[in-house]
Amino acid sequence: MQVRHAFTGRRNGDLAIAGETGLLAGRRAALVDRPWTWLRQVHGNSVITVTEPGEAAGFEGDAIVTATAGAAIAVQTADCAPVLFLANGAVGVVHAGWRGLAAGVIEAAAAALVDLGHPPYQAVLGPCIRARCYEFGSDELDQLADRYGSAVRSTTAWGSPALDLAAGVGAACTGLGVQLLDQSVCTACSSNHWSHRARADSGRQALVAWIEP
Ligand SMILES: [Zn+2]
Repeated sequence: MQVRHAFTGRRNGDLAIAGETGLLAGRRAALVDRPWTWLRQVHGNSVITVTEPGEAAGFEGDAIVTATAGAAIAVQTADCAPVLFLANGAVGVVHAGWRGLAAGVIEAAAAALVDLGHPPYQAVLGPCIRARCYEFGSDELDQLADRYGSAVRSTTAWGSPALDLAAGVGAACTGLGVQLLDQSVCTACSSNHWSHRARADSGRQALVAWIEP
């Protein structure tokens, strides 16, 4: 049983769920030609557990876990953090912006994997907006610092208060006892990724993961 995953970029095409078309189906199949489960993401902490390939497609939530081989599970992002959870015999994907982080979506996804009997042993953080590009309100920063510590406080390249979202994800993983590998890509700086904040892009990259049957 082998877990596989892909963090996509512009070259893979827009994977936003809004355009539910044949073109989108083709882009998904080019990445992994298996039934996909994606979510209507709402920046909350709901986790969907998939037990049949393609189950719960289009449901509301911000994380998916599965121990079912052949089920492709995906989240879409364009600055928010895509987080992959690896477990022995299971996998999880998480869409974590600051609201989701504050709502505990990282911890909720890990708990869902534990409920499946497959606690995560590693997390991977894909392309997301980085502190130097992520100006942030001080009230919300205080809220996140209360939960995840002062490491979430940073400064933009132009000297304004900033959120270090990656540091928040890292603190959440540390709290779970799970090692985090960070790809250290900034969506605002990268020409290969969409950024809602930096360029008002409507396109979305995806994180898709599946277990090879
Ligand atoms: Zn940047």
